[in-house]
Amino acid sequence: MKIAIIGSGITGLSCARRLIEAGMAPVVFDKGRGLGGRVATRRAEGRFQFDHGAQMIPCETRGFRTLLDEAMSEGCVAQWDTDAGERHYVGTPGMTGLAKFLATGVDLHQATEITALTQHADGWELEASAPLSRFDRVVCTAPAPQTTKLVGPALTQPLNGVTYDPSLTLMVALKRDANAPDTQSNPTDAFAWVARDSAKPGRPTQNCWVVQANADWSAAHLERTKDEIATLMLDLFLSHYGLAPTDVAYATAHRWRYAFVSRQLGQPFVTSRDGTLHAGGDWCLGPRVEHAWQSGTAIADDILATA
Ligand SMILES: Cc1cc2nc3c(=O)[nH]c(=O)nc-3n(C[C@H](O)[C@H](O)[C@H](O)COP(=O)(O)OP(=O)(O)OC[C@H]3O[C@@H](n4cnc5c(N)ncnc54)[C@H](O)[C@@H]3O)c2cc1C
Repeated sequence: MKIAIIGSGITGLSCARRLIEAGMAPVVFDKGRGLGGRVATRRAEGRFQFDHGAQMIPCETRGFRTLLDEAMSEGCVAQWDTDAGERHYVGTPGMTGLAKFLATGVDLHQATEITALTQHADGWELEASAPLSRFDRVVCTAPAPQTTKLVGPALTQPLNGVTYDPSLTLMVALKRDANAPDTQSNPTDAFAWVARDSAKPGRPTQNCWVVQANADWSAAHLERTKDEIATLMLDLFLSHYGLAPTDVAYATAHRWRYAFVSRQLGQPFVTSRDGTLHAGGDWCLGPRVEHAWQSGTAIADDILATA
């Protein structure tokens, strides 16, 4: 059976991994150049590194903990003991470590945006810039609004109730350390999260910080240019921590339009009436990496049950 998976975030890669474990050979397409989706690590100027998407990997279920333990034994996940005495799972050497672990053995085609899906008598045709062969099953794991555009009305009605909060994120490298704890939630009216990203285990450089604006501030400034966002957030960051512009070695911003699921679907995936098209993602069950893993593995189990 030929299976195409759209998206190499945690949902798509978890689905692929489960299918591969069962002897299938899915093909994964992602429009991005990297893998992991919102579990993202950026390197800059050859010396700075930032996790500008998911910060850590909370774990509530036994199955997900087993996966994290396996990834830890491969050196792709580690435990981060913060200076506040908290312990969190994180990817190593960046958050994408978890995605890379899941992607082992996956037939992955990056920089391949799927622009349309059409069902024919002999299977699904995926449109991309280069022609792709037909597939018996398709799994779409893009964020709900992007999935809606791709899969059409047959599957999308229940997706309309899904909502997201945006997140504007600042990445800053400092020439000297800031006098602040490793992590802070809601330290200012604008910021939801500030972290000394380089304090996580296995990071190559020092004094790299990640700052996330809260949902209201992000929504209010969402359509500004990335340079404007970086300037605004950097000013707030520097003044809050008593730093000067001359302390900054590097700064840039990222716009996550669909960052955190604020209203989820309430079921692990949706599927077409004939069972040949599945859609899922964190938007099915909640706002975290674990929810993406749950959705991806549930889709794979459904495909295997009906194969
Ligand atoms: C700033 C931020 C901080 C976060 N912090 C945390 C945290 O600390 N802990 C936590 O557990 N969760 C956190 N999250 C949420 C977590 O990142 C997500 O829940 C999870 O990564 C979602 O995975 P996914 O695979 O469902 O979706 P995504 O990661 O969005 O993956 C979807 C993939 O589909 C690809 N795609 C979309 N359309 C197409 C197309 N047409 N063709 C090909 N490819 C396509 C995209 O490029 C992407 O790679 C955070 C998210 C953000 C943005």
